[in-house]
Amino acid sequence: MATLQLKNLKKVYEGKTEAVHDVNLDIEDNEFVVLVGPSGCGKSTTLRMIAGLETISCGELYIDGQLMNYVEPKDRDIAMVFQNYALYPHMTVFDNMAFGLKLRKVPKDEIARKVEEAAKILDLSHLLDRKPKAMSGGQRQRVALGRAIVRSPKVFLLDEPLSNLDAKLRAQMRTEISKLHKKLGTTFIYVTHDQTEAMTMGDRIVVMKDGFIQQVDTPQVLYESPVNKFVAGFLGSPQMNFIDAYLRKDEYNRYYVEFGSEDSKDARGVKYTILMPESKLVPDLAKYVDREVCLGIRPESVHDEPAYLATAQTGIVDADVEITEMMGAETYLYLKCAGNSITARVQPSSTARPGDTIKVGLDPNRIHLFDKETERTIVN
Ligand code: ADP
Repeated sequence: MATLQLKNLKKVYEGKTEAVHDVNLDIEDNEFVVLVGPSGCGKSTTLRMIAGLETISCGELYIDGQLMNYVEPKDRDIAMVFQNYALYPHMTVFDNMAFGLKLRKVPKDEIARKVEEAAKILDLSHLLDRKPKAMSGGQRQRVALGRAIVRSPKVFLLDEPLSNLDAKLRAQMRTEISKLHKKLGTTFIYVTHDQTEAMTMGDRIVVMKDGFIQQVDTPQVLYESPVNKFVAGFLGSPQMNFIDAYLRKDEYNRYYVEFGSEDSKDARGVKYTILMPESKLVPDLAKYVDREVCLGIRPESVHDEPAYLATAQTGIVDADVEITEMMGAETYLYLKCAGNSITARVQPSSTARPGDTIKVGLDPNRIHLFDKETERTIVN
């Protein structure tokens, strides 16, 4: 049970690297918050300041309303799980999990009870006598989690805990950690560079770049309404398509996005237009008329189904199929359209093959526009 408040938190490392600038974040009790962003964006530094493993250069950290800046790590009631499980190789699973409690002089029977309880939650009961080297990566990571659970901390901090595991195990452990969070009813703060982990695990996601928070929200809001091009491109796989375009307005006050040009490399020399639907006509659009903008569209909003193409009013373009990837439940088409690379996520029944020129429809209701210079969202 814990709420956290990060107020204007800042970290300047010696040598003057400003790793984290002015981070403001309120975390609710029992929330699962994921800090995500590319390597070096300041996620670990933020987590380590919460844990007390790094000093806070500026700003304040509160846990349950109490200022923590000067409280020793061991007195913060926090448990941290790392990427490299840091288990003691010569100790059994039981002893690894019991170690912290022994140091704290917790009575023996209480230690046994807590370890057994944690082992049960993590499905490790049958492995308590094993040594780490006789265990799989996933089992070792569960022991590391167990070591954190036995302390019944107020807050769990997890720093890329699944990075050392193979893809299949990672997917499995994602579900296990989510389940664990529900069982324990504790606040979790989880750091990862993997957008899939963030999207599937977080109640809320904090997207970071260059030491700044870009946006904090639920996975769905971030996916549908990113505040800028970075967030739009970071979340989602395959990532959102970005196309250089112009915004135009005709004599009937209709707005169009126009892209492609005479000199486009596919030599087709065409210009395509997408009529902006009513729902996208935000007041700000007027000032972008005849200016360059960045058009964003997610792969699943690029359609090749005949039924879609037959009824679409706008946004139909010709595209050359360069590569197709059959994923089983879906197919990715890598297309070239008026000089732009576009990825489409389509039904496995798609008949498109490399070398074909096909028609695809860019769904006008699903387009995003970004300011070319600031990269801020104009409309989602
Ligand atoms: P992330 O976890 O997002 O990969 P980090 O928080 O580890 O990023 O690092 C943020 C920035 O701070 C990076 O530029 C990194 O090189 C720098 N940094 C991290 N740790 C130290 C340190 N101990 N001393 C100096 N610079 C550091």
